[in-house]
Amino acid sequence: MTTTPARLTVLAGPTAVGKGTVSADLRARYPQVWLSVSATTRAPRPGEVDGVHYHFVSPGRFDAMIVDGELLEWAVVHGRNRYGTPRGPVDERLAAGEPALLEIDLQGARQVRATMPEARFVFLAPPSWEELERRLVGRGTEDADERERRLATARVELAAESEFDHVIVNDDVHRATDELIQVIGLPTR
Ligand code: 5GP
Repeated sequence: MTTTPARLTVLAGPTAVGKGTVSADLRARYPQVWLSVSATTRAPRPGEVDGVHYHFVSPGRFDAMIVDGELLEWAVVHGRNRYGTPRGPVDERLAAGEPALLEIDLQGARQVRATMPEARFVFLAPPSWEELERRLVGRGTEDADERERRLATARVELAAESEFDHVIVNDDVHRATDELIQVIGLPTR
């Protein structure tokens, strides 16, 4: 298992696999791990807070962020909305030597690999395809069309699992987080 602590960790994986739950569990146990807040053109879901879950921006503002070089990576995800990682806060954390985590899609992970190959690339996988479908339906935040779109992306993402340095199966959130902690090289206690 990895011993050198990672500075930048990229956590990718298909829709509804539990990236948000695992990273929240990680941060509850290791508050020093900073989680990047992405910009998105998607509308907020009920309960989502601007600047906390995402920076919710207009398409025009997103265009400007691209043109001004403000994004470390960005992608159209699920064929619909754009999502991107603001570059400034990531650079600040890395310059301060603090561990940083990006929770992004496959296309974004590939872009980060091209510019920051020293980052650690982790893929969170579902225990099975059926379980992924069950979790997506269960969370009830998408209509049937959107679920289909997300499952189509998920098929592509699962096929790219071998591009990652580590694959963690999210069969149990706490166990998956334990594995992520080891992969990042955080001190265990
Ligand atoms: P959701 O709409 O469910 O919040 O997110 C949809 C997908 O967008 C997630 O699977 C997530 O990985 C991806 N995503 C979130 N933020 C970013 C980002 O900054 N860049 C990229 N490339 N993908 C992102």
